Amino acid sequence: MESKPVINKTSGIEARGLRNRYVGSLSGRDIGEQVRVCGWVARIREHGEHLVFVDVRDYSGIIQVVAHSSVDLKAEYVVKVEGLVSQRPAGTVNSDLATGEIELTDTIISVLSSAEPPPFSIQDRVEVDEATRLKFRYIDLRRDKMQHHLRVRSKINSAIRASMERQGFTEIETPLLWTPTPEGAREFIVPSRLHPGATYVLPQSPQIAKQLLMVAGFDRYYQIARCLRDEDLRADRQFEFTQLDLEASFVTQRDIMDFISDAVISASKAAGTVASGEIAEITWKEAMDRFGSDKPDMRFGNELVDVTAVFSSTAVRALSAPCLKALAVPNPSSLTRSKLDGLVDRAKGLGAKGLLWLRAVAGADGLHFDSPVSKFLTAEESTGLLDVMQISDGDIVLIVGDEWEKACQVLGQIRLDLGRSQADPNELKYVWVVDFPLFEGIDEQGRLISAHHPFTMPNEDDFSKLESDPLSVRSQSYDLVLNGWELGSGSIRIHSGDIQSKVFASLGISEEEARSRFGFLLEAFKYGAPPHGGFAFGIDRLTALLVGEDNIREVIAFPKTQSGADVMTGAPKEIDAKIWDLLGLSVNVPRKDLS
Ligand code: ASP
Repeated sequence: MESKPVINKTSGIEARGLRNRYVGSLSGRDIGEQVRVCGWVARIREHGEHLVFVDVRDYSGIIQVVAHSSVDLKAEYVVKVEGLVSQRPAGTVNSDLATGEIELTDTIISVLSSAEPPPFSIQDRVEVDEATRLKFRYIDLRRDKMQHHLRVRSKINSAIRASMERQGFTEIETPLLWTPTPEGAREFIVPSRLHPGATYVLPQSPQIAKQLLMVAGFDRYYQIARCLRDEDLRADRQFEFTQLDLEASFVTQRDIMDFISDAVISASKAAGTVASGEIAEITWKEAMDRFGSDKPDMRFGNELVDVTAVFSSTAVRALSAPCLKALAVPNPSSLTRSKLDGLVDRAKGLGAKGLLWLRAVAGADGLHFDSPVSKFLTAEESTGLLDVMQISDGDIVLIVGDEWEKACQVLGQIRLDLGRSQADPNELKYVWVVDFPLFEGIDEQGRLISAHHPFTMPNEDDFSKLESDPLSVRSQSYDLVLNGWELGSGSIRIHSGDIQSKVFASLGISEEEARSRFGFLLEAFKYGAPPHGGFAFGIDRLTALLVGEDNIREVIAFPKTQSGADVMTGAPKEIDAKIWDLLGLSVNVPRKDLS
């Protein structure tokens, strides 16, 4: 994504204390003013025998300071400069710099802190490896890009808060020292000193606490909440992350979607991006059918086509599958034979049995297919495929045959591989995905797996199928997707003990287990639980997308590396044996290397 317009940083902020101006607020209008600014030495240039030009940087910009060469300055020294705002001499104006027509002259420079040479240049354009950036994160954060991203993040948070307050939500903090929550990820545990051998659990989300707040009558709750999950890290996942978490009573799914739409559109505007006020909606089934994904990137077309009917009585073994999904690749000049072989391997790597490709070629009597498999097709199959695919000379059709969900997923991923580069990086395409199945499958022990979490309300029209055909039961849950990334999910919750018991039973959660894990919530529900529902979306992910970054580490001040280490502080660190004793614990595995 192109860099976003820089947020106006100093308007309305009064410089105080050691300075009376931010450098970024200085302009030609201030010529003749005596000012005091503070900041870091960004660059020093010798000019003749007695003069040096010193660029001084604060968070708002850079100003050129004219000084005597006798001053002892080095890069990244922290200085206070008192001087006169002056017009730069003709021919020396720097139009690349916001303050490029002025400079400070007649200066007195005081060094507030000296500095070692920084381990890398503060200039954005100088590439530095990530390990070094993270080890010296405080230096890295001085860079324009990082300053921009974290300041945009702050704007996003304020816009979300303002949206929530406008919509009547109350911000309430929930505990970090807590008990297992239902999202199903591995949890971080905190040993208790006062109760040796017992532990707290850091919350994967405020899920249960916010449902209790509904029982408590708060009606509309929100929190910009830290959540912790002990899962392997990737570009879009950290152990700790921040989400907008909300819950509301006496509402429908539509109401929750409207609350959240307002929040994300407000956040997008605050980040200086343009997002249309209308968010499209698609059912899970349709998203899978058309885009092969429950988080469809709808910035570009290239939709999947169901061609099962065309080959319903085929003699070609590779085409006799419960479902056949096809994708047209228009004018694929770059899809050489070896690239096509690569796609077959890719499909296999994604779990398909294979992938067939057919190239459309114009002949004397119209289009026909030319490929290793085309000679085995009947004339009806060829024309049938040409009809449904609506392709032209040179286009290629890719086909994957499998169970419906697998065929959709595999070809959906190939659609992304081949098509994502066509997507406009500046476009923001939010989409609501609704009508998810209640259960996403069955585990090795034959138990159903919740698609969201066990408190999700089944779709009322499907109640009767909970026992007879659970995998076809739809839920009242909904995801918000932006440009192919899942931003968050939510649901209308079960507030009746009867339905909850049925869902627990389907999930293979015994009454005893339910009591021991969620007993306090079930108990609370006995005292008058309002119908309620909620949602949570990741602010790290949203911010990354809004500033055009692929990796959420670029919008987090102090992230962990891929291996979960903090290379700056050295965390996680071994602790003193005495502390283990105090906690009543001992460690009997050798320490792993943390690089
Ligand atoms: N607690 C859920 C999550 O963090 C979101 C929700 O259902 O409100 O994924």
